[in-house]
Amino acid sequence: MANENKLQAIIGHCKEYGYVFQSSEIYDGLSAVYDYGQNGAELKRNIRDYWWRSMTQMHENIVGIDAAIFMHPTVWKASGHVDNFSDPMIDNKDSKKRYRVDHLIEAHAETLATEAKDTLLAQMDALLANNDFAGLKQLIEDNKIKCGVSGTGNWTDVRQFNLMFSTQVGSVAEEASEIYLRPETAQGIFVNFLNVQKTGRMKIPFGIAQTGKAFRNEIVARGFIFRMREFEQMEMQFFVRPGTQKEWYEYWKEARMKWHLSLGIPQDSYRFHDHVKLAHYADAACDIEYDFPMGFKEVEGVHSRTDFDLTEHQKYSGKKLTYFDTDINQHYVPYVIETSIGLDRAVMMVLSHAYKEEDLSTPEKQDSRVVLSLPPMLAPIKLAVLPLTKKDGLPELARELMEQCKPYFRCFYEEKDAIGKRYRRQDAIGTPFCVTIDHQTKEDQTVTIRYRDSMLQERIPLAAVIDLIIEKTKMF
Ligand code: ATP
Repeated sequence: MANENKLQAIIGHCKEYGYVFQSSEIYDGLSAVYDYGQNGAELKRNIRDYWWRSMTQMHENIVGIDAAIFMHPTVWKASGHVDNFSDPMIDNKDSKKRYRVDHLIEAHAETLATEAKDTLLAQMDALLANNDFAGLKQLIEDNKIKCGVSGTGNWTDVRQFNLMFSTQVGSVAEEASEIYLRPETAQGIFVNFLNVQKTGRMKIPFGIAQTGKAFRNEIVARGFIFRMREFEQMEMQFFVRPGTQKEWYEYWKEARMKWHLSLGIPQDSYRFHDHVKLAHYADAACDIEYDFPMGFKEVEGVHSRTDFDLTEHQKYSGKKLTYFDTDINQHYVPYVIETSIGLDRAVMMVLSHAYKEEDLSTPEKQDSRVVLSLPPMLAPIKLAVLPLTKKDGLPELARELMEQCKPYFRCFYEEKDAIGKRYRRQDAIGTPFCVTIDHQTKEDQTVTIRYRDSMLQERIPLAAVIDLIIEKTKMF
Protein backbone atom coordinates (compact mmCIF):
# COMPACT_ATOMS: atom_id res chain seq x y z
CA MET A 1 0.00 0.00 0.00
CA ALA A 2 1.32 3.47 -0.86
CA ASN A 3 2.46 5.30 2.26
CA GLU A 4 0.00 8.18 2.04
CA ASN A 5 -2.80 5.62 1.59
CA LYS A 6 -1.56 3.66 4.58
CA LEU A 7 -1.66 6.75 6.80
CA GLN A 8 -5.20 7.54 5.65
CA ALA A 9 -6.24 3.90 6.17
CA ILE A 10 -4.87 3.94 9.73
CA ILE A 11 -6.63 7.22 10.55
CA GLY A 12 -9.89 5.81 9.20
CA HIS A 13 -9.44 2.56 11.08
CA CYS A 14 -8.69 4.39 14.35
CA LYS A 15 -11.94 6.28 14.04
CA GLU A 16 -14.04 3.29 13.03
CA TYR A 17 -12.83 1.07 15.86
CA GLY A 18 -12.79 3.52 18.75
CA TYR A 19 -9.06 4.23 18.87
CA VAL A 20 -8.66 7.94 18.09
CA PHE A 21 -11.18 10.70 17.40
CA GLN A 22 -10.65 14.30 16.37
CA SER A 23 -11.12 16.50 19.45
CA SER A 24 -14.52 18.29 19.61
CA GLU A 25 -15.46 16.61 16.36
CA ILE A 26 -19.10 17.74 16.46
CA TYR A 27 -17.76 21.31 16.30
CA ASP A 28 -15.56 20.41 13.32
CA GLY A 29 -12.57 19.57 15.50
CA LEU A 30 -9.66 21.46 16.99
CA SER A 31 -6.49 21.36 14.97
CA ALA A 32 -3.74 19.04 16.24
CA VAL A 33 -5.75 17.92 19.28
CA TYR A 34 -7.11 14.37 19.52
CA ASP A 35 -9.17 12.21 21.88
CA TYR A 36 -8.61 8.53 22.53
CA GLY A 37 -11.66 6.31 22.31
CA GLN A 38 -12.48 3.15 24.25
CA ASN A 39 -9.80 1.04 22.58
CA GLY A 40 -7.22 3.79 22.09
CA ALA A 41 -7.34 4.70 25.76
CA GLU A 42 -6.60 1.07 26.72
CA LEU A 43 -3.77 0.74 24.20
CA LYS A 44 -2.24 4.00 25.37
CA ARG A 45 -2.55 2.96 29.01
CA ASN A 46 -0.89 -0.39 28.27
CA ILE A 47 2.05 1.27 26.50
CA ARG A 48 2.40 3.73 29.38
CA ASP A 49 2.30 0.84 31.89
CA TYR A 50 4.86 -1.13 29.93
CA TRP A 51 7.22 1.85 29.83
CA TRP A 52 6.63 2.66 33.51
CA ARG A 53 7.20 -0.88 34.66
CA SER A 54 10.24 -1.30 32.36
CA MET A 55 11.76 1.75 34.04
CA THR A 56 10.71 1.47 37.67
CA GLN A 57 9.87 -2.17 38.37
CA MET A 58 12.72 -3.58 36.29
CA HIS A 59 15.39 -1.14 37.57
CA GLU A 60 16.05 -1.09 41.30
CA ASN A 61 17.66 2.34 40.96
CA ILE A 62 14.82 4.11 39.11
CA VAL A 63 11.75 5.52 40.86
CA GLY A 64 8.71 7.28 39.44
CA ILE A 65 7.03 10.56 40.36
CA ASP A 66 3.97 12.52 39.24
CA ALA A 67 4.65 16.27 39.23
CA ALA A 68 2.07 18.98 38.46
CA ILE A 69 1.60 20.48 35.02
CA PHE A 70 1.74 24.01 36.45
CA MET A 71 5.11 25.08 37.79
CA HIS A 72 6.63 28.27 39.14
CA PRO A 73 7.24 30.57 36.14
CA THR A 74 10.93 30.94 37.02
CA VAL A 75 11.39 27.23 36.26
CA TRP A 76 11.05 28.04 32.55
CA LYS A 77 13.40 30.98 32.81
CA ALA A 78 16.01 28.73 34.44
CA SER A 79 15.52 25.89 31.96
CA GLY A 80 16.05 28.25 29.04
CA HIS A 81 12.57 27.69 27.59
CA VAL A 82 11.51 31.34 27.89
CA ASP A 83 14.50 32.46 25.85
CA ASN A 84 15.26 29.45 23.69
CA PHE A 85 12.23 27.25 23.20
CA SER A 86 11.47 28.54 19.79
CA ASP A 87 11.67 27.35 16.23
CA PRO A 88 12.74 29.33 13.19
CA MET A 89 9.61 30.13 11.20
CA ILE A 90 8.94 31.69 7.84
CA ASP A 91 5.64 33.02 6.45
CA ASN A 92 4.49 33.05 2.88
CA LYS A 93 3.30 36.60 2.22
CA ASP A 94 0.66 35.54 -0.31
CA SER A 95 -1.02 32.65 1.49
CA LYS A 96 -0.17 33.96 5.02
CA LYS A 97 0.73 30.37 5.84
CA ARG A 98 3.47 29.88 8.43
CA TYR A 99 6.05 27.11 8.17
CA ARG A 100 8.75 25.74 10.40
CA VAL A 101 11.84 26.33 8.31
CA ASP A 102 13.28 22.84 8.82
CA HIS A 103 9.99 21.22 7.84
CA LEU A 104 9.70 23.33 4.72
CA ILE A 105 13.19 22.43 3.57
CA GLU A 106 12.84 18.77 4.54
CA ALA A 107 9.60 18.44 2.57
CA HIS A 108 11.34 19.90 -0.48
CA ALA A 109 14.35 17.60 0.04
CA GLU A 110 12.03 14.59 -0.14
CA THR A 111 11.23 15.47 -3.75
CA LEU A 112 14.93 15.39 -4.78
CA ALA A 113 17.24 12.58 -5.84
CA THR A 114 19.30 11.07 -3.00
CA GLU A 115 22.50 13.03 -3.60
CA ALA A 116 20.81 16.42 -3.98
CA LYS A 117 18.63 15.65 -0.96
CA ASP A 118 21.61 14.83 1.25
CA THR A 119 23.43 18.00 0.15
CA LEU A 120 20.43 20.20 0.89
CA LEU A 121 19.84 18.63 4.33
CA ALA A 122 23.53 18.99 5.22
CA GLN A 123 23.41 22.68 4.24
CA MET A 124 20.29 23.16 6.33
CA ASP A 125 21.80 21.39 9.38
CA ALA A 126 24.90 23.61 9.20
CA LEU A 127 22.84 26.82 8.99
CA LEU A 128 20.54 25.73 11.84
CA ALA A 129 23.57 24.88 13.97
CA ASN A 130 24.83 28.45 13.48
CA ASN A 131 21.42 30.08 13.93
CA ASP A 132 22.05 31.65 10.54
CA PHE A 133 18.53 32.88 9.69
CA ALA A 134 19.55 34.97 6.68
CA GLY A 135 21.39 31.95 5.31
CA LEU A 136 18.30 29.77 5.77
CA LYS A 137 16.15 32.22 3.86
CA GLN A 138 18.77 32.33 1.11
CA LEU A 139 18.78 28.51 0.99
CA ILE A 140 14.98 28.49 0.55
CA GLU A 141 15.21 31.05 -2.24
CA ASP A 142 18.18 29.39 -3.96
CA ASN A 143 16.29 26.11 -4.05
CA LYS A 144 13.15 27.85 -5.33
CA ILE A 145 11.06 26.34 -2.54
CA LYS A 146 7.42 27.34 -2.93
CA CYS A 147 4.46 27.55 -0.56
CA GLY A 148 2.13 24.56 -0.98
CA VAL A 149 -0.94 26.82 -0.76
CA SER A 150 -0.11 29.92 -2.83
CA GLY A 151 2.51 28.26 -5.03
CA THR A 152 4.76 31.34 -4.71
CA GLY A 153 8.22 31.93 -3.25
CA ASN A 154 7.25 35.29 -1.70
CA TRP A 155 8.71 34.77 1.80
CA THR A 156 9.13 36.89 4.93
CA ASP A 157 12.40 36.85 6.86
CA VAL A 158 13.05 33.87 9.12
CA ARG A 159 12.03 34.57 12.76
CA GLN A 160 11.95 32.75 16.08
CA PHE A 161 8.57 31.76 17.57
CA ASN A 162 8.14 30.54 21.17
CA LEU A 163 6.16 27.32 21.50
CA MET A 164 4.98 27.60 25.13
CA PHE A 165 1.31 28.18 26.01
CA SER A 166 0.69 30.59 28.85
CA THR A 167 -2.25 31.14 31.15
CA GLN A 168 -3.15 33.10 34.31
CA VAL A 169 -3.35 31.89 37.91
CA GLY A 170 -5.01 33.94 40.63
CA SER A 171 -8.63 34.85 41.29
CA VAL A 172 -8.43 38.60 40.71
CA ALA A 173 -7.25 39.87 37.37
CA GLU A 174 -4.78 42.40 38.84
CA GLU A 175 -3.20 39.81 41.09
CA ALA A 176 -3.03 37.08 38.49
CA SER A 177 0.37 36.04 37.33
CA GLU A 178 1.29 34.45 34.09
CA ILE A 179 2.35 30.84 34.16
CA TYR A 180 3.07 28.30 31.45
CA LEU A 181 1.64 24.93 30.60
CA ARG A 182 4.72 22.73 30.79
CA PRO A 183 6.26 22.02 27.37
CA GLU A 184 8.09 18.97 28.76
CA THR A 185 7.79 16.85 31.89
CA ALA A 186 11.53 16.84 32.61
CA GLN A 187 11.60 20.02 34.72
CA GLY A 188 9.22 18.48 37.28
CA ILE A 189 11.92 15.87 37.81
CA PHE A 190 14.80 18.34 38.13
CA VAL A 191 13.10 20.53 40.72
CA ASN A 192 12.31 17.40 42.77
CA PHE A 193 15.78 15.92 42.43
CA LEU A 194 16.78 16.47 46.06
CA ASN A 195 13.33 15.61 47.46
CA VAL A 196 13.50 12.20 45.82
CA GLN A 197 17.20 11.63 46.46
CA LYS A 198 16.89 12.38 50.16
CA THR A 199 13.54 10.71 50.91
CA GLY A 200 14.38 7.66 48.79
CA ARG A 201 18.00 7.55 50.05
CA MET A 202 19.01 7.18 46.42
CA LYS A 203 22.67 6.64 45.51
CA ILE A 204 24.11 7.83 42.24
CA PRO A 205 23.69 6.52 39.58
CA PHE A 206 19.90 6.61 39.86
CA GLY A 207 16.93 7.65 37.76
CA ILE A 208 13.59 9.42 38.19
CA ALA A 209 10.82 8.59 35.74
CA GLN A 210 7.61 10.41 34.98
CA THR A 211 4.75 10.29 32.49
CA GLY A 212 2.34 13.13 31.84
CA LYS A 213 0.88 15.78 29.61
CA ALA A 214 2.97 18.41 27.86
CA PHE A 215 1.82 21.29 25.68
CA ARG A 216 3.44 22.99 22.69
CA ASN A 217 1.99 25.54 20.35
CA GLU A 218 3.19 23.66 17.29
CA ILE A 219 2.91 25.77 14.18
CA VAL A 220 2.86 23.08 11.60
CA ALA A 221 0.77 20.43 13.24
CA ARG A 222 0.30 17.45 10.97
CA GLY A 223 0.70 13.72 10.75
CA PHE A 224 -2.29 12.70 12.90
CA ILE A 225 -1.18 12.02 16.52
CA PHE A 226 2.47 12.41 15.52
CA ARG A 227 2.53 16.14 16.23
CA MET A 228 -0.06 17.46 18.64
CA ARG A 229 -0.47 20.62 20.69
CA GLU A 230 -1.43 18.61 23.78
CA PHE A 231 0.42 15.32 24.11
CA GLU A 232 1.93 12.97 26.62
CA GLN A 233 5.57 12.29 27.36
CA MET A 234 7.33 9.48 29.18
CA GLU A 235 10.64 10.79 30.44
CA MET A 236 13.42 9.48 32.64
CA GLN A 237 16.32 11.51 33.99
CA PHE A 238 19.31 9.42 35.01
CA PHE A 239 21.70 11.19 37.42
CA VAL A 240 25.35 10.21 37.11
CA ARG A 241 28.79 11.20 38.37
CA PRO A 242 30.40 13.92 36.18
CA GLY A 243 32.80 12.35 33.72
CA THR A 244 30.78 9.14 33.36
CA GLN A 245 28.06 10.65 31.16
CA LYS A 246 29.45 9.31 27.88
CA GLU A 247 29.26 5.68 28.95
CA TRP A 248 25.77 6.15 30.45
CA TYR A 249 24.64 7.87 27.27
CA GLU A 250 25.76 4.82 25.26
CA TYR A 251 24.12 2.53 27.82
CA TRP A 252 20.74 4.26 27.55
CA LYS A 253 20.89 4.47 23.76
CA GLU A 254 21.22 0.70 23.64
CA ALA A 255 18.74 0.04 26.46
CA ARG A 256 16.07 2.15 24.81
CA MET A 257 16.57 0.48 21.43
CA LYS A 258 16.15 -2.91 23.16
CA TRP A 259 12.87 -1.70 24.64
CA HIS A 260 11.63 -0.74 21.20
CA LEU A 261 12.61 -4.11 19.74
CA SER A 262 10.77 -5.83 22.61
CA LEU A 263 7.54 -4.45 21.10
CA GLY A 264 8.04 -6.97 18.29
CA ILE A 265 8.98 -4.25 15.81
CA PRO A 266 12.01 -5.30 13.70
CA GLN A 267 15.38 -3.55 13.79
CA ASP A 268 15.15 -2.32 10.20
CA SER A 269 12.11 -0.20 11.14
CA TYR A 270 14.37 1.85 13.44
CA ARG A 271 17.45 3.98 13.08
CA PHE A 272 19.46 6.39 15.20
CA HIS A 273 19.83 9.99 14.10
CA ASP A 274 22.68 11.80 15.83
CA HIS A 275 22.06 15.52 16.34
CA VAL A 276 24.29 17.98 14.53
CA LYS A 277 22.69 21.00 16.16
CA LEU A 278 22.81 20.29 19.89
CA ALA A 279 20.23 21.89 22.20
CA HIS A 280 21.61 24.52 24.58
CA TYR A 281 21.83 21.97 27.42
CA ALA A 282 23.29 18.92 25.64
CA ASP A 283 26.79 17.51 25.07
CA ALA A 284 25.46 14.58 23.00
CA ALA A 285 22.02 13.74 21.66
CA CYS A 286 20.30 11.39 19.26
CA ASP A 287 16.83 10.50 18.13
CA ILE A 288 15.45 7.02 17.79
CA GLU A 289 13.55 7.20 14.54
CA TYR A 290 10.82 4.82 13.41
CA ASP A 291 9.76 4.21 9.84
CA PHE A 292 6.26 5.76 10.05
CA PRO A 293 3.97 5.75 6.98
CA MET A 294 5.38 9.29 6.41
CA GLY A 295 8.96 7.97 6.52
CA PHE A 296 11.59 7.80 9.27
CA LYS A 297 10.71 10.26 12.06
CA GLU A 298 11.66 10.79 15.70
CA VAL A 299 9.78 8.77 18.28
CA GLU A 300 12.24 9.16 21.17
CA GLY A 301 15.20 11.31 22.14
CA VAL A 302 18.21 10.27 24.21
CA HIS A 303 20.08 13.31 25.49
CA SER A 304 23.18 13.86 27.56
CA ARG A 305 22.06 17.06 29.34
CA THR A 306 25.25 17.69 31.36
CA ASP A 307 24.65 19.48 34.70
CA PHE A 308 22.88 22.30 32.89
CA ASP A 309 19.40 22.03 34.42
CA LEU A 310 20.40 21.46 38.05
CA THR A 311 23.03 24.21 37.86
CA GLU A 312 20.50 26.63 36.40
CA HIS A 313 17.92 25.79 39.07
CA GLN A 314 20.58 26.34 41.75
CA LYS A 315 21.31 29.73 40.27
CA TYR A 316 17.69 30.88 39.94
CA SER A 317 16.32 29.37 43.17
CA GLY A 318 19.34 30.09 45.38
CA LYS A 319 19.02 26.50 46.72
CA LYS A 320 21.88 24.04 46.67
CA LEU A 321 21.24 21.03 44.43
CA THR A 322 24.41 19.07 45.02
CA TYR A 323 24.95 15.45 45.92
CA PHE A 324 27.53 14.07 48.32
CA ASP A 325 29.19 11.03 46.79
CA THR A 326 30.44 8.90 49.68
CA ASP A 327 32.43 6.66 47.33
CA ILE A 328 34.77 9.50 46.38
CA ASN A 329 34.07 11.90 49.26
CA GLN A 330 32.99 14.73 47.00
CA HIS A 331 30.07 17.12 46.57
CA TYR A 332 29.00 17.74 43.00
CA VAL A 333 26.08 18.64 40.76
CA PRO A 334 25.23 15.38 38.95
CA TYR A 335 25.22 15.04 35.18
CA VAL A 336 22.07 13.78 33.53
CA ILE A 337 21.17 11.39 30.74
CA GLU A 338 17.58 11.80 29.63
CA THR A 339 15.38 9.40 27.71
CA SER A 340 12.26 11.08 26.38
CA ILE A 341 9.58 9.32 24.37
CA GLY A 342 6.24 10.68 23.20
CA LEU A 343 3.43 8.36 24.28
CA ASP A 344 1.18 9.40 21.41
CA ARG A 345 3.99 8.83 18.92
CA ALA A 346 4.54 5.42 20.50
CA VAL A 347 0.82 4.66 20.03
CA MET A 348 1.08 5.69 16.40
CA MET A 349 4.22 3.61 15.92
CA VAL A 350 2.61 0.50 17.43
CA LEU A 351 -0.53 1.00 15.33
CA SER A 352 1.48 1.60 12.14
CA HIS A 353 3.35 -1.64 12.64
CA ALA A 354 0.25 -3.59 13.65
CA TYR A 355 -2.10 -2.47 10.86
CA LYS A 356 -2.37 -5.03 8.05
CA GLU A 357 -4.73 -5.58 5.18
CA GLU A 358 -4.59 -9.27 4.28
CA ASP A 359 -5.83 -10.92 1.13
CA LEU A 360 -7.29 -14.30 2.11
CA SER A 361 -8.77 -15.17 -1.28
CA THR A 362 -8.86 -18.77 -2.44
CA PRO A 363 -9.62 -19.98 -5.99
CA GLU A 364 -13.20 -20.54 -4.81
CA LYS A 365 -13.81 -17.32 -2.91
CA GLN A 366 -12.59 -13.74 -2.63
CA ASP A 367 -11.84 -12.75 0.94
CA SER A 368 -9.79 -10.24 2.91
CA ARG A 369 -9.44 -8.93 6.43
CA VAL A 370 -8.00 -5.97 8.29
CA VAL A 371 -6.07 -7.05 11.34
CA LEU A 372 -4.23 -5.16 14.08
CA SER A 373 -1.38 -7.49 15.04
CA LEU A 374 -0.77 -5.73 18.35
CA PRO A 375 1.62 -7.34 20.84
CA PRO A 376 -0.78 -9.29 23.13
CA MET A 377 0.54 -7.45 26.21
CA LEU A 378 -0.59 -4.13 24.65
CA ALA A 379 -3.92 -5.18 23.11
CA PRO A 380 -6.95 -3.32 24.58
CA ILE A 381 -8.92 -6.57 24.89
CA LYS A 382 -7.00 -9.75 25.64
CA LEU A 383 -9.77 -12.29 25.12
CA ALA A 384 -13.15 -12.38 23.39
CA VAL A 385 -15.58 -14.96 24.77
CA LEU A 386 -18.06 -16.04 22.12
CA PRO A 387 -20.91 -18.53 22.58
CA LEU A 388 -21.55 -20.23 19.23
CA THR A 389 -25.31 -19.72 19.55
CA LYS A 390 -27.62 -17.72 21.82
CA LYS A 391 -29.34 -20.84 23.20
CA ASP A 392 -28.83 -24.32 24.68
CA GLY A 393 -27.09 -22.96 27.76
CA LEU A 394 -24.04 -21.74 25.80
CA PRO A 395 -24.34 -18.05 26.82
CA GLU A 396 -24.50 -19.14 30.47
CA LEU A 397 -21.26 -21.11 30.13
CA ALA A 398 -19.61 -18.19 28.31
CA ARG A 399 -20.75 -15.76 31.01
CA GLU A 400 -19.27 -18.00 33.64
CA LEU A 401 -15.89 -17.91 31.88
CA MET A 402 -16.16 -14.12 31.56
CA GLU A 403 -16.71 -13.77 35.31
CA GLN A 404 -13.69 -15.95 36.04
CA CYS A 405 -11.44 -14.00 33.65
CA LYS A 406 -12.48 -10.42 34.54
CA PRO A 407 -10.27 -9.97 37.60
CA TYR A 408 -7.16 -10.95 35.62
CA PHE A 409 -7.41 -9.23 32.25
CA ARG A 410 -9.81 -7.33 30.03
CA CYS A 411 -12.20 -9.56 28.15
CA PHE A 412 -15.18 -9.01 25.92
CA TYR A 413 -18.43 -10.95 25.51
CA GLU A 414 -20.40 -11.11 22.29
CA GLU A 415 -23.17 -13.39 21.10
CA LYS A 416 -24.59 -11.47 18.12
CA ASP A 417 -23.82 -12.34 14.46
CA ALA A 418 -22.18 -15.33 12.81
CA ILE A 419 -18.97 -16.50 14.42
CA GLY A 420 -16.83 -15.58 11.37
CA LYS A 421 -18.09 -12.01 11.49
CA ARG A 422 -17.36 -11.79 15.21
CA TYR A 423 -13.80 -13.05 14.65
CA ARG A 424 -13.21 -10.39 12.01
CA ARG A 425 -14.39 -7.63 14.34
CA GLN A 426 -11.95 -8.80 16.99
CA ASP A 427 -9.16 -8.98 14.36
CA ALA A 428 -9.82 -5.34 13.49
CA ILE A 429 -9.68 -4.31 17.16
CA GLY A 430 -6.53 -6.36 17.67
CA THR A 431 -7.85 -8.92 20.19
CA PRO A 432 -5.21 -11.67 20.19
CA PHE A 433 -7.42 -14.55 21.40
CA CYS A 434 -11.03 -15.61 20.90
CA VAL A 435 -12.61 -18.52 22.75
CA THR A 436 -15.73 -20.12 21.35
CA ILE A 437 -18.11 -22.04 23.57
CA ASP A 438 -20.05 -24.69 21.60
CA HIS A 439 -22.14 -27.78 22.24
CA GLN A 440 -19.07 -29.94 22.72
CA THR A 441 -18.06 -27.68 25.61
CA LYS A 442 -21.04 -28.96 27.54
CA GLU A 443 -19.96 -32.53 27.01
CA ASP A 444 -16.20 -32.48 27.53
CA GLN A 445 -15.40 -29.03 29.03
CA THR A 446 -13.21 -28.03 26.09
CA VAL A 447 -13.37 -24.83 24.01
CA THR A 448 -12.04 -23.67 20.66
CA ILE A 449 -9.34 -21.05 20.95
CA ARG A 450 -8.56 -19.01 17.85
CA TYR A 451 -5.29 -17.14 17.40
CA ARG A 452 -5.61 -13.75 15.72
CA ASP A 453 -2.43 -13.65 13.65
CA SER A 454 -2.33 -17.22 12.33
CA MET A 455 -6.13 -17.69 12.48
CA LEU A 456 -5.35 -21.23 13.67
CA GLN A 457 -7.89 -22.88 15.94
CA GLU A 458 -7.42 -25.64 18.48
CA ARG A 459 -9.37 -27.24 21.29
CA ILE A 460 -8.14 -26.74 24.82
CA PRO A 461 -9.69 -27.49 28.22
CA LEU A 462 -11.98 -24.71 29.45
CA ALA A 463 -10.10 -24.79 32.73
CA ALA A 464 -6.81 -23.93 30.95
CA VAL A 465 -8.05 -20.68 29.38
CA ILE A 466 -7.21 -18.23 32.17
CA ASP A 467 -3.64 -19.41 32.71
CA LEU A 468 -2.95 -19.50 28.98
CA ILE A 469 -4.12 -15.91 28.44
CA ILE A 470 -2.22 -14.65 31.51
CA GLU A 471 0.93 -16.37 30.23
CA LYS A 472 0.58 -15.04 26.66
CA THR A 473 -0.25 -11.44 27.62
CA LYS A 474 2.21 -10.85 30.45
CA MET A 475 4.69 -7.98 30.10
CA PHE A 476 7.69 -9.60 31.74
P1 ATP B 1 10.26 17.28 17.08
O1 ATP B 1 11.64 17.58 16.53
O2 ATP B 1 9.55 16.19 16.34
O3 ATP B 1 9.43 18.50 17.30
P2 ATP B 1 11.45 17.38 19.63
O4 ATP B 1 12.87 17.03 19.32
O5 ATP B 1 11.08 18.79 19.86
O6 ATP B 1 10.48 16.71 18.54
P3 ATP B 1 11.64 16.53 22.33
O7 ATP B 1 11.60 17.87 22.88
O8 ATP B 1 12.93 15.78 22.32
O9 ATP B 1 11.00 16.51 20.86
O10 ATP B 1 10.52 15.68 23.06
C1 ATP B 1 10.66 14.30 23.34
C2 ATP B 1 9.59 13.47 22.66
O11 ATP B 1 8.30 14.02 22.87
C3 ATP B 1 9.74 13.38 21.17
O12 ATP B 1 10.66 12.37 20.81
C4 ATP B 1 8.34 13.05 20.73
O13 ATP B 1 8.12 11.65 20.78
C5 ATP B 1 7.48 13.73 21.75
N1 ATP B 1 6.90 14.96 21.20
C6 ATP B 1 7.50 16.17 21.11
N2 ATP B 1 6.66 17.06 20.56
C7 ATP B 1 5.51 16.39 20.30
C8 ATP B 1 4.25 16.78 19.73
N3 ATP B 1 4.02 18.02 19.35
N4 ATP B 1 3.28 15.84 19.62
C9 ATP B 1 3.51 14.58 20.03
N5 ATP B 1 4.66 14.16 20.56
C10 ATP B 1 5.66 15.06 20.70
